[in-house]
Amino acid sequence: MLNLKNVSKFYYNKGIIATGFTKVNLELKLGEFVVITGESGSGKSTLLNVISGLDSYEEGEMYINGEETSHYTEKEFEDYRRKYIANIFQSFNLINSYTVYQNVELVLLLNGYKKRQVKKKVLDMIEKVGLTKFKNTKVSKLSGGQKQRVAIARAMVKDTPIIVADEPTGNLDTESAKDVIEILKKVAKDKLVIVVTHNIEQVEEYATRIIKMHDGRIIENTQRKEIKDEKRLVESEYHKITIFNKWRLGIRNTFNIVTKFLLLFAVFLFITVALLAEYAGFALSEDENNTSYGSAGFSDLSENRIIIKKQDKTPFTQEDYEKIKALSNTDYIVEDDLFIDNSISFYRNDISFYGNMRNIENLKGTVDLGRMPQAENEIVVRANKDQYNISHNTEEVLNKTYTLRNDGEQNKEIKVIIVGIQYRENDYDYQFEFYLSTPMMEKLRSMVNRNYSDITVFFNNKYTSYTVLPSEKVEKGKAIVSDDLKYEFSDGRVRNKPIVVTVSNIYYKEELNLTVGNTYTKSNYTRVTGYENYSPYQLPIFINQEEYDAIFDKPSYQSSVYIKDAKEIDQTMQELETLGMKPKKAMDFRVDYNASYKQVMKIIKLVVTVVLIVVLFFISYFIIRIILKSRNIYYTTLRMLGATFKSVKRILDIELFVNSTLAYMAVLGFIYLINQNMISFEYIAKLTSYLTIREYVVMYLVLTIMSQLIARRFSKKLFKNTAINTYNEEV
Ligand code: ADP
Ligand code: MG
Repeated sequence: MLNLKNVSKFYYNKGIIATGFTKVNLELKLGEFVVITGESGSGKSTLLNVISGLDSYEEGEMYINGEETSHYTEKEFEDYRRKYIANIFQSFNLINSYTVYQNVELVLLLNGYKKRQVKKKVLDMIEKVGLTKFKNTKVSKLSGGQKQRVAIARAMVKDTPIIVADEPTGNLDTESAKDVIEILKKVAKDKLVIVVTHNIEQVEEYATRIIKMHDGRIIENTQRKEIKDEKRLVESEYHKITIFNKWRLGIRNTFNIVTKFLLLFAVFLFITVALLAEYAGFALSEDENNTSYGSAGFSDLSENRIIIKKQDKTPFTQEDYEKIKALSNTDYIVEDDLFIDNSISFYRNDISFYGNMRNIENLKGTVDLGRMPQAENEIVVRANKDQYNISHNTEEVLNKTYTLRNDGEQNKEIKVIIVGIQYRENDYDYQFEFYLSTPMMEKLRSMVNRNYSDITVFFNNKYTSYTVLPSEKVEKGKAIVSDDLKYEFSDGRVRNKPIVVTVSNIYYKEELNLTVGNTYTKSNYTRVTGYENYSPYQLPIFINQEEYDAIFDKPSYQSSVYIKDAKEIDQTMQELETLGMKPKKAMDFRVDYNASYKQVMKIIKLVVTVVLIVVLFFISYFIIRIILKSRNIYYTTLRMLGATFKSVKRILDIELFVNSTLAYMAVLGFIYLINQNMISFEYIAKLTSYLTIREYVVMYLVLTIMSQLIARRFSKKLFKNTAINTYNEEV
């Protein structure tokens, strides 16, 4: 059944060739109990390993059941082993952290049996080797003889035709050695048993054949009993390990050695915390760097400012303002919100100032120079004391008439007299604040409205962008247009034709429905319109002065509420909403001017993160390898029992996955407790406030992937060598 013809085994080691054994010829049958003896180094183990398919051979042919094996690949030898071979070792090679039952069961689980199917088999086999009493005892607690009996049970339970035992009694006292051989003989009848031993007397009565080796050769081969009718060979059944059993073993391995579990757990804790801290720390520093903001629309983006409009889009009334003032968190209201953000220049001769307009009612305290205003056109200026014009040029400022002009506005000027100056604590802002009376603010508002409005004219069934100018000479409801426009109409007449002037800005849209009254020509231009300098290239439409003013002279549509306590902003926002307002936080309009700087920081962050992950990976890999190295025997044993690379990797995967998930959960639990204020760690609470669900999920994925990569690397290392080499290295 098992034939060796001129089989030789050589070892190549750094250019030196060593001989394991040479030209071995053997013919072994089922039912034989073969004993191999010989002094140390004579090649016994090497021969057993070749027969077991644990090691390759270089010369000759080995036949199993008539099939030649010299062309076998690693994979085919794996199948060969699973079908035919069970090994018993001198050092037992059991899994010490498993119970007797688990050790015997393991070989079946690895070979695709389902847990339910195996129970009886396993218990029967444990019974046969006389260990029923110890079935739930951890192997580490057993004596040597008992351990070897477990190894026999494990070798037998899979029911392979060949049992190979390399010095199974080498570590045992005479009594238990005898025991073991007896049991082996008893349970292995009808099988081919090959036993290496130094102690011939112990086996003599059972041996059917005794082989003596010397210096790599067989020098004696004595048949002591004839095997007459050889039994039919039955290959041992095996399948791929089930997913369920992989999980079972993976989870069992997570917890079977407490120290290992805790060490791995600590490593995963470290990785998780390092990753989360790195990310959150970065987000925090990024946030703290973000102090420079700007916005195209608003210049004051302080956290105390809430910009409000009304939900029904109507202008504010005094009643509205009273209600808002009554809110507990309201500091003050700037009714003309526009002037917070629009700088208006203010000049006299060659002196000019630039700044924000405020209502005199918002001026706190009193003036430092001059007096408070009494007339509508009198104003107060507030500025840094070290401003040159304020400190050295006071006579040019105080009690002088200045002209206010919004950028680009030429039609209308507003003249004011500065009667008071209030000093401000010097700050970096060199802008002035101008405090005006309410009627003056209204004039300004209408000026700004004009500036920011689009005027379109619907005439002769189309929209056109004529210049629209106010004129005292035009009646209400009428418009004066160029006489040339008559040519645009088929009837050649333009008088009494309808004309719609639409004014729109961000706050409102208003239409004036007019009809054409007079027309103007070059010769009557000034008389009819009141304007000079007729130009044939610019033919404006003139409308009534009062009507024109009324379109722009609107109450405020947008105001700002300044609040006392910025932390209470959400509460105040809600109160404003119940008052029928549409509030917006000014700080929400912050636009980052440092976008490109941030882009660079983002890239750096990415690089730092990737480097960190790689470094963490290697640190963890080396730590985990040291921890797992103690488990080499375990995995090699799995391999000897028929586990493939894939299933070993998967079992390790699961172990690391379970452990890393537990570590991750622990960190999450800790963060949860901190955020529930059950544990006080302000800094950590602050850090974690930068983590969103997304980050937590990403971190978990990174952690899982890392543990899988580690499992992969480690399994690859394990399988790089032949099973027997990995085994020998460790023993
Ligand atoms: P035994 O089991 O009879 O004591 P072995 O089979 O272990 O002997 O060894 C047989 C010969 O093969 C010895 O000369 C030994 O030095 C050599 N040998 C065994 N394993 C290796 C190896 N991995 N590399 C090189 N030589 C080896
Ligand atoms: Mg040996």
